[in-house]
Amino acid sequence: MAIAAKPQIDSKYETVIGLEVHVQLLTKTKIFCACPNVFGSDPNTNVCPVCLGMPGALPVLNRQAVEFAVKASQALNLKVNETSIFARKNYFYPDLPKGYQISQFDKPLSEHGYIEVTTAGSAGERRTKRIGITRLHLEEDAGKSMHEGFPDSATKTYVDLNRTGTPLAEIVSDPDISTPDEAYEYLTLLKEIILYTGVSDCNMEEGSLRCDANISIRPRGQQELGTKVEVKNVNSFRFVRQALEYEIERQTEVLDSGGTIQQETRLYNPSEGRTYTMRTKEKAHDYRYFPEPDLLPLIVDRRQQDAIRATLPELPEAKRQRLIAEYSLSEGDAATLTATQARAALFETEAKKAKSPKRLANLVISELQGRLKTAGLELEDSPITIAGARLSADLLEDGTISSKILKELYDHAFEQNVDFPVIYEKEKPQQITDTAEIEKMIDAVLASSPKQVEQYRAGKTTMIGFFVGQVMKASKGKANPAMLNELLSKKLS
Ligand SMILES: [Zn+2]
Repeated sequence: MAIAAKPQIDSKYETVIGLEVHVQLLTKTKIFCACPNVFGSDPNTNVCPVCLGMPGALPVLNRQAVEFAVKASQALNLKVNETSIFARKNYFYPDLPKGYQISQFDKPLSEHGYIEVTTAGSAGERRTKRIGITRLHLEEDAGKSMHEGFPDSATKTYVDLNRTGTPLAEIVSDPDISTPDEAYEYLTLLKEIILYTGVSDCNMEEGSLRCDANISIRPRGQQELGTKVEVKNVNSFRFVRQALEYEIERQTEVLDSGGTIQQETRLYNPSEGRTYTMRTKEKAHDYRYFPEPDLLPLIVDRRQQDAIRATLPELPEAKRQRLIAEYSLSEGDAATLTATQARAALFETEAKKAKSPKRLANLVISELQGRLKTAGLELEDSPITIAGARLSADLLEDGTISSKILKELYDHAFEQNVDFPVIYEKEKPQQITDTAEIEKMIDAVLASSPKQVEQYRAGKTTMIGFFVGQVMKASKGKANPAMLNELLSKKLS
């Protein structure tokens, strides 16, 4: 989605944003035990001594979690370290019964990656920017405290530990992001890439993808970074953008009025459109990291890395560039067709069968997308499927139907909520294929347009389009286009 750039709220300051994204990995079991890694079970049913943090229980690393994290790293251009170290991050919270989280600290799984986002400049032009990714590390998720929904919720908090030990990849960006729009585009592309790799479903409603944002502002030209504020657990990309916009405004006001920014963690309230202090620096944790004594260093050697790389699918950007080259699509059209892997696959399957892949792409982008936009539908919910659109493209290509008829059939398919082949069978236009009848109509048009005929014979051959249009109109769009073109050329020559 292209977003119009907002003017800088105050050009006196520049904004520095870094994002931390937690992605739950789609393994069958948890990262350090054999409990099922599934969403939506009854509370505290997918637990065992390991993920409950019982004394003496030992973690065993899940190979699939490592492979998924390596795959995500490679897709994000990160360099995978052959040796990485698990570390204990010590803190106590009721949803973390062990009293520590197994994470990675100074030797993460991978480092030094990047993705390239495209945003709209102030004049609407497309700008590409490389945003660095500092690291990706593996860690376990905590459980969930439940503060609501029980008769005694006013006085008690419940805890569901099904989520403890769910494998997470934490992806930390460099502080390269300068606007809320860039943050939105970064998150959108990151999610798209992760979805393509298949290592997570990135379902934000179920918490499979969560985002924390660090933001500071500083006077333009100043080298030193401003004091950073962290906005935690924002559960949609739209809200991340809103929270950042709010923070820029708030921090600008504080600095303009001679105040100082507090280093703190804040929460975003979407219904009020503002952030609130959650905890200030004085209360920040000292996690006392140290290497996890129950786990060996994690070794992923070159051979293993290469084997995982070989399973990487074609990634969104590469696919877009290939579709642009193969089907002469615009950047925007290619983005629409590759928004999900399933959509891109469907398009390509049909494009390979189509008489003219380019024509199919055009139909999907113009006729189909236009109607979907009006109806407020996504391509996946379209009454006309891509396979249906392919049939229509073929009929148009071989001249069986005119584009006027095609448009009408598309309208009817949308009105009746049926696919193109159904509506075509039902309303198959009674095409005029009788040579004499078409000739009669051509004669009438030529007789009533002597000036245009003269122009045509004087060398303005593009006038043929005008005649085709007139005859089509006279035939109410039913003249067989191929026959019409042939007969018309004969008559005029
Ligand atoms: Zn367990």
